[in-house]
Amino acid sequence: MRLNPFNTDNIRVRQGGRGGFPGGGGGKVGCGTIIIAIIAALVFGVDPAQMIGGMQQMDQTGRTTGQATQSQNEAAICNQNAYAAEGCAALDSLNSTWRPLFQQAGITFRDPELTYYQGGTNSGCGSAQSAMGPFYCPADEGIYIDTSFFDQMARQLGAGGDFARVYVMAHEYGHHIQKLTGVAAQIRSAQQQNPRVANQLQVRMELQADCYAGVWAGINRDRIEPGDIEEGMRAASAIGDDALSGGRANPESFTHGTSAQRMQALRAGLQAADDTVCDQYMRF
Ligand SMILES: [Zn+2]
Repeated sequence: MRLNPFNTDNIRVRQGGRGGFPGGGGGKVGCGTIIIAIIAALVFGVDPAQMIGGMQQMDQTGRTTGQATQSQNEAAICNQNAYAAEGCAALDSLNSTWRPLFQQAGITFRDPELTYYQGGTNSGCGSAQSAMGPFYCPADEGIYIDTSFFDQMARQLGAGGDFARVYVMAHEYGHHIQKLTGVAAQIRSAQQQNPRVANQLQVRMELQADCYAGVWAGINRDRIEPGDIEEGMRAASAIGDDALSGGRANPESFTHGTSAQRMQALRAGLQAADDTVCDQYMRF
């Protein structure tokens, strides 16, 4: 996909601190830091002195103020590797695509915040570990990605290519849309009221996020290059619940949908290039 280079004025991006435990990595250095660092060292087997050093560094960056410095920091975070730069460019395009659609619909729009991290970090939803894969946290409206996931996706799932990667970003962004429209909260309360169908409702959420990813790509159709659609379909197929479980899992345990469902959802969004097509996943 031919994306414009990212513009830091149009995105919110930050670097997650090391950690992955509640209360740590926030960049606040005080008496508690040493205790937290030692606990973390016990859990994660790192040298406490090294960790405290890391936190102090984080505190200094946290204290830097001013728009220019902020923008420089964001540029450095985006430019840390090719995947990060590509993700920032995708986020820029996603913001530019979705913001006017929300304005037209009269729904308040807020940009999500993208956090890149290595290994582990904290999120508004608790600790994050790379093994969890990219995710969206509704509590802090943040997308969390360890870019090493993209190498894994290519090597272990056979889902490489730039479009496969931006599809992942666009899918997480789809969850942000669900937060802003209120769909996420409605599904959450329906799941609590009826735990028996919690997984089925989760599948609908995931398919709608796939569909929104397709809508973004469909609206930016002129940016799509030969091979992109195939990359997206291969990725959607590779991360289907049936594919990931090697066909062994009980369909009732599915939370993201089958390969066929995920491909269909991405395709539906792509072809329609209109977000209302994604309402179908919330019709009961
Ligand atoms: Zn998802």
